[in-house]
Amino acid sequence: MPDKDRYAVFGQPINHSKSPRIHQLFAEQTDQLLSYEAQDVPADAFESAIHVFLRQGGKGLNCTVPLKELAWQRADQLSQRATRSKAVNTLILQENGALLGDNTDGIGLVTDLTKNHQINLSNSRILILGAGGASRGIIEPLMQQAPKHIIIANRTVEKAMTLSDEFSVLGKIKGCAYDDIKNSQFDLILNATSASLSGKLPPLADNILAEKGCCYDLAYGNKPTPFMLWGQTQNAEKSLDGLGMLVEQAAEAFYLWRNVRPETSAIIDLLNSERT
Ligand code: NDP
Repeated sequence: MPDKDRYAVFGQPINHSKSPRIHQLFAEQTDQLLSYEAQDVPADAFESAIHVFLRQGGKGLNCTVPLKELAWQRADQLSQRATRSKAVNTLILQENGALLGDNTDGIGLVTDLTKNHQINLSNSRILILGAGGASRGIIEPLMQQAPKHIIIANRTVEKAMTLSDEFSVLGKIKGCAYDDIKNSQFDLILNATSASLSGKLPPLADNILAEKGCCYDLAYGNKPTPFMLWGQTQNAEKSLDGLGMLVEQAAEAFYLWRNVRPETSAIIDLLNSERT
């Protein structure tokens, strides 16, 4: 029997990662012979874990919290979207042994919004909550959809300002505090904070979601997040979580590694049906 190509996701904590399951489903669907495992890797063990993984024949990696910035530093080459985002979630081993770093989070989000949920981003007023690694990864792909503008609100305002400065060459973007948006209206509000992971809601004023506006939490879980519930109280047309984004970013990574594009809708439906 031929050897399977090896892939993995590194991060910490990692035990609840759905990525091994998703990539296994992709591999079965597309008849690709590969293995994909989750490895608990803290930041200070990242370099040695990569070394061991490559020595054992590893072909590609996903990196998640807290390793995306380290992966960006470690990559020998970077895609354009990874260069600007300063965060890498996918490493691809090249034939010459170099590691190419890419970031598939943003394209995963945009695909889920536009293809799976038919949310039109063109000329829309987008609010991003949070200015961490996830926000960095999604701004450029969102900008490519030609929104009217993007506002980033963050608890630590300076981080929102820095992000808007870094991405301002791409289009109209502004960083601010939560207090500054209480009289504004948005067609799409994206929660890219980690507040949902601790059951919290960012400090949002009522009435900032425009009529027929949508809410999308990048976080996901078995139950609706506090932000999704907030969206429902604001009469959001759709109030969604990030499970679709997770599957779509994985599909893009799979494509980068295998040059085969998996069909995602059946897998999203399956994972949705398994929520308890
Ligand atoms: P980071 O730790 O890099 O950033 C966290 C951000 O959340 C910061 O801006 C922080 O603000 C803000 N924040 C944390 N707690 C609160 C709170 N209680 N109220 C308001 N703001 C808060 O995390 P990431 O950017 O890596 O991840 C953010 C989220 O995106 C996570 O939920 C993660 O699971 C999700 N994600 C989902 C993906 C998917 O495929 N669905 C892919 C990637 C991420 P401050 O700067 O002030 O500290």
